[in-house]
Amino acid sequence: MLYFKTKDEIELIRESSLLVSKTLAEIAKAVKPGITTLSLDKLAEEFIRDHGAVPSFKGYRNFPSSLCISINEQVVHGLPSNRMVEEEDMVSVDCGVFLNGFHGDSAYTFYMGDDAAKLKLIYITKECLDLGVEKAISGMRTGDIGDAIQTYAIKNGYGVVRELIGHGVGRDLHEKPDVPNYGRKGSGMQLKEGMTIAIEPMINIGTKEVFTESDGWTISTKDGMPSAHFEHTVAIGRNQADVLTTFEYIEEVLQSNYAY
Ligand code: MG
Ligand code: MG
Repeated sequence: MLYFKTKDEIELIRESSLLVSKTLAEIAKAVKPGITTLSLDKLAEEFIRDHGAVPSFKGYRNFPSSLCISINEQVVHGLPSNRMVEEEDMVSVDCGVFLNGFHGDSAYTFYMGDDAAKLKLIYITKECLDLGVEKAISGMRTGDIGDAIQTYAIKNGYGVVRELIGHGVGRDLHEKPDVPNYGRKGSGMQLKEGMTIAIEPMINIGTKEVFTESDGWTISTKDGMPSAHFEHTVAIGRNQADVLTTFEYIEEVLQSNYAY
């Protein structure tokens, strides 16, 4: 279903979204070589519940965890486990919270290594997100967002995952409209004020092709090459997008980690 939100409802989604952003900042503090993805998941769930909210993903279609943690060639929907984070891992963390009747949804790819190809993938994927967000304006169409993301990713020689897409977000975690990371300018549903959407490019160094791992959840690249994922929850604006999640809290932590 497609739901239009009032200004007050958008403020509630902002609260949910900011809690997601703060939860991801807690992950930024903890994600280091040697930590298991399961302990990151526990930490997130505790932080979310301590703030009076519920993890959106836990129990959603029987998903067992609070976070999706997808490493390297894993694109999205990775299951937290006893796997330890390693020095050269790219760790994509997707988080949703349900607070005061509304969901917020955001994802960030953490990388502590110095591999130039991985650093470039992360940088470009984040730029793809920014380019998509720029189109989240009343009168634009979902295809304008997809086109902006796809054109820039392909220009950089990357694969754009097609099987998984962005979505409306609000009282339900996944609402209309569909927000693909590909498409033609001027196609798709027209965006209007009152719509809140999650924009979430999943960009692969190699092929765009993906498959589902035997755990039934984890989506991975077919060629085993790395994939990155960034996501914001955004309210459609009259003149510019209102980004409800933020990476500021995360990046404050990351910068202080590197300060010496
Ligand atoms: Mg998400
Ligand atoms: Mg999402």
